[in-house]
Amino acid sequence: MDQNKSKDSKKDKIKKIASLIVLIALLVAIIVVGVVYVNKTNEEDEKELPYTELIKEISNKNVEAVEMTVGSTTVKVKLKGMQEGEEKITIVPNTQVFMELIQQQALEGNEINVNQKPRSILTVIPSYIMSLLPTLIMVALFIMLFKMQGLGDKGEVYDETERKIKTTFDDVAGLDEEKEELIEIVDFLKKPEKFIEMGAKIPKGVLLYGKPGTGKTLIAKAIAGEAGVPFISMSGSEFIEMFAGLGASRVRKLFEKARKMAPCIVFIDEIDAIGARRTGSSGAESENNQTLNQLLVEMDGFSTEETIIVLAATNRPEMLDKALLRPGRFDRQVTIPTPDLKGREAILRIHAKDKKLAENVTLKGIAEDTSGFTGAELANILNEAAITATRNKHEVIEQLDLDEAVKKVTVGLEKHSRVISDKDKKLTAYHEAGHAIVSQYLPTQTDVKEVSIIPRGLAGGYTMYKNDEDKYYISKTEMEEKLIALLGGRAAEKLALDDISTGASNDIEVATQVARNMVTVYGMSDEIGPISLKNDNGELDYQMFGEEIEDKIGREVNKLINTAYMDAQTILREHMDKLHEIATALLEKEKINEEEFKKFFA
Ligand code: ADP
Ligand code: ZN
Repeated sequence: MDQNKSKDSKKDKIKKIASLIVLIALLVAIIVVGVVYVNKTNEEDEKELPYTELIKEISNKNVEAVEMTVGSTTVKVKLKGMQEGEEKITIVPNTQVFMELIQQQALEGNEINVNQKPRSILTVIPSYIMSLLPTLIMVALFIMLFKMQGLGDKGEVYDETERKIKTTFDDVAGLDEEKEELIEIVDFLKKPEKFIEMGAKIPKGVLLYGKPGTGKTLIAKAIAGEAGVPFISMSGSEFIEMFAGLGASRVRKLFEKARKMAPCIVFIDEIDAIGARRTGSSGAESENNQTLNQLLVEMDGFSTEETIIVLAATNRPEMLDKALLRPGRFDRQVTIPTPDLKGREAILRIHAKDKKLAENVTLKGIAEDTSGFTGAELANILNEAAITATRNKHEVIEQLDLDEAVKKVTVGLEKHSRVISDKDKKLTAYHEAGHAIVSQYLPTQTDVKEVSIIPRGLAGGYTMYKNDEDKYYISKTEMEEKLIALLGGRAAEKLALDDISTGASNDIEVATQVARNMVTVYGMSDEIGPISLKNDNGELDYQMFGEEIEDKIGREVNKLINTAYMDAQTILREHMDKLHEIATALLEKEKINEEEFKKFFA
């Protein structure tokens, strides 16, 4: 995800939370005021005179006057000897009975001045409001909620429309072929007449497929920047809302705005959130359907002359409703891959531009160590390196800071503070030494770069391997040896300590996954052969060819894992001396680098 964008959506979240807090504060205030008000009228401090007391005072001929209000049970009482303006207040249970009592007293010679007041607005309104209060609060709540949903607030729904997009293709590193493909869109946005005159059909929608952080948003923005047109963006997940029909209305508004701003780019991130294949009719799904249908209607509705190009991004193309891919909709698809070695170096270079790097720093080395990393992760490494350099009080970012940043991003932060028992340390030392030694003896496995028993992230220790090249294909032998290396940790625990631990759980998980893929996806098992068990949705379905195949899969996966585990033990048994040596060295130094590791095998 775009970092700026995620900052923006964070801001949105903060805004939402802030308005929620304001709302809650308001409610609390209203309730407090209400309670205080009710208490006040009930008590009126020391002015209150209990009804029984009032009756006593009346029979004692101690009451000079009472003032009553029509429709109110509150009676103001003036006792004899009270000063002008002084009064007591009594709540009378039944005004009718009270009046009769006073008349009775008058007949008996106890004359009390009765002052009848018409119903006053001031006394009526508060109680009226009090009874309406719950309704008022509910109404206020609903209005706030609707506002938060973005019904009225355009600023929340659209971003980057008013600002001019400064991003260009120069800001997008690697992806040369993809840029080549998309430059056509730029031309069209710049000079639509030329194409229309020629009778050319211009695509309305382009789907960008790729993992998060590969630069889909970036490239969409760059297209807008290159063409000098507005960029209207929205995330698919924002369309899915609490209230039914809201998603569809948001889509309508989005395109209303786009029409006004055309020529322009409409960017829909995470389109799978609305464009998921239509199934069933449960609540959430039918809401999605409405939203998706609206999107289809809008896309079919505008003509190519309107020059709106919809770019949408997803990392789950298999999830999309096929209707989205029909001609006149997203009929173009561009895959945005994770960058290769050259691409990674180029991306690092772009993001290093605004950072102070030491002269001897080699970005190429970092690119070599980060195979499989996305652009966002690479950008993050440089940012982390800058933070590390600052923390280390370096003048500029040094190689050390960069290496630390790579590790931070790959295995999490080193945790020196965690106290580890000696027993755990020993176990980790043998476990990691096991991984490292086993892979050292496997021809297809890359060299060990660092072995450590300092906990990082969730791992108690780690073994880092070198990444020399980007591979497009992985051979069966390589995968088998990968399994052996993965199980090297567990094998070492068993041989050296005669016990096994939960420390290998992640290794086992990964190994099982690799073995399963070998059998069910890559067709690498003898018994089953080259068959893929992926269904049309790209999901694994073991029962696709019946139970017999399912049984076979289990047996084949088992065989692969057990063979690898045996092989790992065989290698380690042959090199027990090295296992003890390296584990001991790890316990002593906690960390062994590439050179130090190689010395054990000299
Ligand atoms: P996506 O939309 O695919 O999830 P983004 O476009 O949001 O990815 O990328 C996130 C950030 O990663 C970008 O803002 C940029 O800083 C960086 N980035 C990703 N790919 C590239 C690239 N090819 N060149 C330069 N920077 C990139
Ligand atoms: Zn392990």
